[in-house]
Amino acid sequence: MDITIIGAGAMGSLFGSLLAKSGENVLLMDIWKEHVSAINYRGLGVEFDGKTNQVDIQASSNMQDIRKSDLVIIFVKSTQTKQAAFQALKCLNDEGVVLTLQNGMGNADKIAQVVNPDKVIAGTTSHGATILGPGLIRHAGTGPTLIGIWSGKNNADLENIKNVFCKADIDTKIEDNIHLIVWKKLMINVGINAITALTGIKNGCILDSPPTGELVRTAVKEACDVALAHGVTLPDDIAEQVFAIAKATGPNRSSMGQDVDHQRQTEIDAINGAVVSLAQIKKISVPVNRTLTELVKILQENYK
Ligand code: NAD
Repeated sequence: MDITIIGAGAMGSLFGSLLAKSGENVLLMDIWKEHVSAINYRGLGVEFDGKTNQVDIQASSNMQDIRKSDLVIIFVKSTQTKQAAFQALKCLNDEGVVLTLQNGMGNADKIAQVVNPDKVIAGTTSHGATILGPGLIRHAGTGPTLIGIWSGKNNADLENIKNVFCKADIDTKIEDNIHLIVWKKLMINVGINAITALTGIKNGCILDSPPTGELVRTAVKEACDVALAHGVTLPDDIAEQVFAIAKATGPNRSSMGQDVDHQRQTEIDAINGAVVSLAQIKKISVPVNRTLTELVKILQENYK
């Protein structure tokens, strides 16, 4: 399969390396020139369980190098999704489809404004990765990847993509209700990310004090009410599921926490900010998510 990955940071490089190792024809596209040069010069280094393997894979920063692909995977941060969708459009062959496994709500909709909506596949992944430096990533965790057509229409390519991913050791399942899956993942990010980013604590510390626990519970409850107003019913124990993830990832800083630590723009608009925007449409009040969103934005605007 001809695959182009737009956004070859931690996750794009990880998926690209797994797919390239299993024999797919992969091109990584990224605007980070140092990273692209390092990959083309000595291969992509992937550290896993303390060992580093070099993977031979093509990378480019030049849109002139794009070639028509059966599958385009968008793995930029959600702030860059619209731009990446226009790039994806240029890469697709007649039958090609676009996949997003990004965090947050709104990525698939943004892509579907640019690409035929029936060709947009969305989902979530429990794989985790970190950038260690140009041309070097750490594969930090594994887990299932769930995919489905965002428009809800059947698409034969989905089975093919699942098989290609499974062959590459990306354990993948097709989900009929992909909106529910993306909402469930959103709940984890809504509950953990902004609170850890603002307080500087690690994920597990959320459980240590009643005020943080209560804040998580309220942010998640507000988001559940918004989901319901938009026709998505989340499980009654979703807050407990969020706490279980916080415990399981206890020693980690959330991705938003890391973004704030490194003074990078966060994905707040696609996480708590998305809850605020979707609440506005249904005239629902979400004071905790609004406050978290505004505080993270103030923090970002005042980076040194
Ligand atoms: P990252 O910052 O490591 O990688 C993003 C890459 O996109 C960067 O290398 C950047 O240079 C590149 N980029 C930005 N604009 C571009 C453009 N227009 N064209 C091409 N490249 C562009 O981010 P990440 O950690 O890989 O996360 C990507 C997405 O996956 C996010 O939505 C994140 O929330 C989600 N996610 C991350 C993890 C994880 O463990 N890192 C796990 C699950 C989901």
